[in-house]
Amino acid sequence: MKILFYDTKSYDKESFEKQLANFPEVEIDFMKTDLAPKTAPLAKGFDAVCAFVSSDIGTETVEKLHEAGVKLILLRCAGFNNVDLEKAEEYGIKVMRVPGYSPEAVAEHAMALALGVTRRLHKAYVKVRENDFSLSGLMGFNFYQKTAGIVGTGKIGAAMARICRGFGMNVIAYDVYKNPDLDFVEYVSLDELLERSDLISLHCPLMDNTYHLINKETIAKMKDGVVLVNTSRGGLVKTDDLIEGIRARKFFGVGLDVYEEETKNVFEDRSDEILEHSTTARLLSFPNVMITSHQGFFTEEALAAISETTLQNAVAFEKGESTGNEVVKQG
Ligand code: NAD
Repeated sequence: MKILFYDTKSYDKESFEKQLANFPEVEIDFMKTDLAPKTAPLAKGFDAVCAFVSSDIGTETVEKLHEAGVKLILLRCAGFNNVDLEKAEEYGIKVMRVPGYSPEAVAEHAMALALGVTRRLHKAYVKVRENDFSLSGLMGFNFYQKTAGIVGTGKIGAAMARICRGFGMNVIAYDVYKNPDLDFVEYVSLDELLERSDLISLHCPLMDNTYHLINKETIAKMKDGVVLVNTSRGGLVKTDDLIEGIRARKFFGVGLDVYEEETKNVFEDRSDEILEHSTTARLLSFPNVMITSHQGFFTEEALAAISETTLQNAVAFEKGESTGNEVVKQG
């Protein structure tokens, strides 16, 4: 099994090379360039490609991968909204992902963002470094006995719900399916969640029916002074409407690990560039907004689990076995 590994970062190479010792049947070529229509033909001669969240695996890329003879797309991530699944199915290309490498890694980051913006840690850190020991601009509020609204109670949402319960919060949730493990959670409609929550954390996948779930209308239903955290996918939030809401003082704080415009930025050092027409720059201009660059998954434990599951997926595919990690088009 020969895999062409796109968009390789040093930490990817390190964690996959560590695992390779346990998978002697797998060979990997690591490449820095990301997967896109232009780079897909490079996969000629490989059985599989390994790609990540920022890879463009749309119609054209899938066509080029098919022409190159690729039979398997290994996503080293949970989300799969960047793949044209219909085309892949049409060409008989299997798509496999890593559904639950470390839900706690992302959930803990969601809580870090929630606490960061609520206790103004981003401002406090900078102030103290400048010998400004005053407390002005740092007033927060307690999460204890407040209401956390979790949108999507799958693996990550469930971990976040448990963390919020640990903070002494009242946890409510909205999901199309109820998670039977979360007996302490009260399931409500999305409208009720928006109306009652002091902290709203998004953990549902990006799909046609969740695109721009947070928009002008849904923001209007939220409590004044709410904290919004998104560690799921940028497209869940309509950024222009969010900016309008922030300007209207709707939010106490907003923590984003993902945002609509992130694809060009993710894992790149653009510190010498001037970001033109950037909504990211507009978001960053607000004192109550904290943005991180899709780092929710980025823990030692998660990376080890990602490389292990990806290689297990590859080997299972080769043997014609199923791991349950195959992604299929729904509906
Ligand atoms: P999961 O599949 O275990 O859970 C998703 C949940 O969302 C399910 O319970 C599902 O029923 C629910 N859902 C589906 N449609 C919904 C809707 N319309 N409204 C409300 N809920 C709905 O997924 P997960 O492992 O918990 O991951 C959640 C998301 O987190 C992924 O889709 C991915 O986009 C994102 N993610 C981000 C990072 C990061 O580094 N920031 C890392 C991993 C995953």
